[in-house]
Amino acid sequence: MTPFRFALAALLIFAAPAQGADRTIYLTFDDGPLNGTSNILDVLEAEQVPATLFMVGMHAQASAANRALVQRAKQLPLVTLGNHSYSHAYNHYRHFYGDTEGVVADMVRANAVLGLKPVVHARLPGRDVFRLPSMSKNDTSLGLAQEGHEEPDYEFVAASGFYLYGWDHEWVHKDNGEPVQSVDHLVSEIDHLFGYGRFVKPGKLILLMHDEMFQDGFDGKTKLTNLIAALKLRRYAFGAIQGYDD
Ligand SMILES: [Zn+2]
Repeated sequence: MTPFRFALAALLIFAAPAQGADRTIYLTFDDGPLNGTSNILDVLEAEQVPATLFMVGMHAQASAANRALVQRAKQLPLVTLGNHSYSHAYNHYRHFYGDTEGVVADMVRANAVLGLKPVVHARLPGRDVFRLPSMSKNDTSLGLAQEGHEEPDYEFVAASGFYLYGWDHEWVHKDNGEPVQSVDHLVSEIDHLFGYGRFVKPGKLILLMHDEMFQDGFDGKTKLTNLIAALKLRRYAFGAIQGYDD
């Protein structure tokens, strides 16, 4: 083998896996268990890709069927069950984040309901906040006035046994839960974002979705299957949240 060919071979060997590893997508689903959660689990199982389901304790307690969904999610090796609070702040975020100890108590209550032990992968309701061993980021979408009013102590929340994850991009939904972007549109957005490379962590995109988007009425199973197939075709890698902070 000539030196040139050797160099070329080495380049191909080392370049090929790096391409996938440089472009990793973390699928995250919030607010379950809800109508839509079982479709998500079906698709993740069929497609064999990792994902995180940030669940709400109150929703887990709502019915025997929901409790069964929590157990099913926990049994799937590629699925990480995360904490998305007990109450989802009852959707009164300003009030909720005015009391950090209350936030922690609510998160700890969800741990008990979901059967999670620290350190727990978690996402705060309604807040795009990161607190991880290697990095920290506040929710830049909040106005200064609101941020000043809330003054939540996220360090204290994290120190209470939580890795907190925000997101880089969202598959948006309407008020009734129906997805806004088509799969094709979402994939082109993702391609664009990787083109610009502006992520919280380089080469890593956390995609926020909500369980209710994937109910039968919105053809959720087909849409999620099509999304994952399109991303696989483009050779994106799918990451488990445990490796995000590496
Ligand atoms: Zn939520």
